Amino acid sequence: MVAAPKTVTILGSTGSVGVSTIDLIERDPAAYKVVALTGNGNWKKLAEQARRLSPDMVVIADPAHYADLKAALADTNIGVAAGPEALCEAASLPSDWVMAAIVGAAGLKPTLAAVERGASVGLANKECLVCAGTLFMARVKAHKATLLPVDSEHNAIFQVFDFEQKDKIRKIILTASGGPFRTWSLGDMAKVTPAQAVAHPNWSMGAKISVDSASMMNKGLEVIEAHHLFGMPSEQIDVLVHPQSVVHSMVEYTDGSTLAQLGTPDMRTPIAYALGWPKRIPAPTGKLDLAQLGSLTFEAPDYKRFPCLGLARAALQSGGAAPTILNAANEVAVARFLAGEIGFLDIAAIVEHTMTRVSVQSVATLEDVVAVDGEARRVAAAAKNLSAAAE
Ligand code: NAD
Ligand code: MG
Repeated sequence: MVAAPKTVTILGSTGSVGVSTIDLIERDPAAYKVVALTGNGNWKKLAEQARRLSPDMVVIADPAHYADLKAALADTNIGVAAGPEALCEAASLPSDWVMAAIVGAAGLKPTLAAVERGASVGLANKECLVCAGTLFMARVKAHKATLLPVDSEHNAIFQVFDFEQKDKIRKIILTASGGPFRTWSLGDMAKVTPAQAVAHPNWSMGAKISVDSASMMNKGLEVIEAHHLFGMPSEQIDVLVHPQSVVHSMVEYTDGSTLAQLGTPDMRTPIAYALGWPKRIPAPTGKLDLAQLGSLTFEAPDYKRFPCLGLARAALQSGGAAPTILNAANEVAVARFLAGEIGFLDIAAIVEHTMTRVSVQSVATLEDVVAVDGEARRVAAAAKNLSAAAE
């Protein structure tokens, strides 16, 4: 008997992870039926994806593009909607598997909508767990949703983490490429342009995560993400710089064994793992040739040149609203940097400034998260050129 196709929803289908997910689906079209696709500004790409995949519904988050998208799909019977509420509607439509690949806290409500109907969720949108980790994980449990980490490090850990013998795990080790400025001085980093910051040496990704990788805030966000996904305290989550991005992360056991997952730096491997789970499916990624590579290197992260890493650890330690504030401030600071408004080092300065200005209350409800996130965004948007002022 031929198995029924897996029904799939892709939140953030027009982005880097979304496009890689579609690439895998189109390599085995009989195995999948796409239920919904969502995007934000790029309505042309969304319309083109919709024509190829014939979902039941497409949603453009930015309502300004609704008319264009609607007109582009007028001769089809694909439902078209716009706005943040419609994103949640798309996520709520029944489907077996959801790719959560919206960038930033904007992905929180739609991803929760998928969680709340007990879907299997491939989670790329790490900001969900940073801004509302405790609440998010409680809902995963309450609604018996299945969370499948897509972030390459967390996917690697998921593959080698013995959930039955968690007490035998000494620590998890998140590897980090170190980004394009790994060896740069602070003085040189003060002058980098957005184009330099988004040019990642190993991975091809969206602009926001590329800047996060350059500042190493990405690794800080990933420490918080790992804490929530695997229930490990900050002290048992190490960061190790590994410039080749081949060892995607490791788990160290109390018997002295360290298990790792390796692969070429291509998101289609972790996406395929999450899409096929619990079975493995093929991915068209390059074969890992260790003889050709010759050597893999590792070094300790530098918390002085990459202060975002320490800020994220401090936020995790403080708990409550601190990670929500960190995330919101970082989103605003990165957007301001990409717009050419502030320097690269101002990102960390603005995050730190915001963390000291917004009070760390508890975030028990989604409304609390939204309120703290909004307040942190206002403070971060108003912050002046802080790193220059400090010099
Ligand atoms: P991207 O910028 O390429 O794509 C983001 C997607 O989100 C797009 O579809 C965009 O239209 C949509 N979007 C943006 N703002 C939105 C809003 N306000 N409302 C609704 N939709 C919105 O980003 P990406 O690189 O694909 O990353 C997506 C997520 O996956 C991020 O959280 C990132 O940290 C995580 N991630 C990405 C990679 C990678 O290799 N790209 C690796 C690991 C984790
Ligand atoms: Mg990652």
